[in-house]
Amino acid sequence: MAKLKLASYWAASCGGCDIAVLDSNEKVLGMLADTVLWPFALDFKYRHLEALPDQSIEVALFSGAIRTSEQWHHARLLRDKARILVAFGSCACFGGVPALANLHCREEVFQRLYWETPSTANPWATFPQTRTPVAGGELDLPEFYDTVLTLDQVVPVDCSAPGCPPPPESVLRILEMLETGAFFPPGSVLASDKSLCDECQRVRQEKKITRLYRVHEIMPDPQTCLLEQGLICLGPATRGGCGLRCLKANMPCRGCFGPLPGVIDQGAKMLSALTSIYEAKEDDDLARLLTEVADPAGSFYRFGMSRSLLQRRRLEPMEAAAR
Ligand code: SF4
Ligand code: SF4
Repeated sequence: MAKLKLASYWAASCGGCDIAVLDSNEKVLGMLADTVLWPFALDFKYRHLEALPDQSIEVALFSGAIRTSEQWHHARLLRDKARILVAFGSCACFGGVPALANLHCREEVFQRLYWETPSTANPWATFPQTRTPVAGGELDLPEFYDTVLTLDQVVPVDCSAPGCPPPPESVLRILEMLETGAFFPPGSVLASDKSLCDECQRVRQEKKITRLYRVHEIMPDPQTCLLEQGLICLGPATRGGCGLRCLKANMPCRGCFGPLPGVIDQGAKMLSALTSIYEAKEDDDLARLLTEVADPAGSFYRFGMSRSLLQRRRLEPMEAAAR
């Protein structure tokens, strides 16, 4: 049977999702011959993709969130060229870590990256421009958007494989889909419909906590629920199916498998779970809880800012008018 064509594209991502594909070892070798795009590993030109007939790729994996006009263009292009478009990894599914920048605007991101960081030397105050005149013409750069988006906020998606990165089981299921041609039903999510807590074997005593800890402040008991030991573990607000990867390393869940079905805002759900076990006798106790969360956005929305009710900081009228 002829092998099916695969494309893999990375947008705003760290590359970990592509490493997860490479980690499938001999399975990945079997797919290379029929790969028509994989910028992470192979030298294709985008014009080769543009020249393909519509619907001629069976499966396209799209990792990373969308934060530039180039990524937007390739999301649209892959939607046209592929029969099955997979949001591959937490950034494509929920915005991921890049979407924490939604708490800032483009100018603030550039200021931080190209001016303020201790390792930056920028003596001519050079910042990215979409067009730069050079001898004999102009250089173009993609437009950098204020707001990081998920893949399905740009184009319809057929299947989601959450995880930072997706676990080997999800990669193998996708590669097997390529081998057999037995495609997942539309709207499939390669995760459990139940919470991570439902899969976790740690002992829960439904006891209240009186303070929170950061992971470096305590050595947690490996048999007992981490939340009940005062660590922010997003298990109650996160889909299961990852194989309890962080829990097995005695680390709390950060929420990379995303919100449970029917939950609009993963962070709000977690905050609700946290306040329900926090022993607060007076208003001051709840105020103290908030001071103990060193990084609220990173703790509750590490992977889900684009998907949250907040989605981004409101742009000031001057910022919005400048777009
Ligand atoms: S909160 Fe975390 S440690 Fe506790 S049961 Fe849920 S997944 Fe396990
Ligand atoms: S335990 Fe949580 S953060 Fe870790 S891999 Fe599983 S879903 Fe992702």
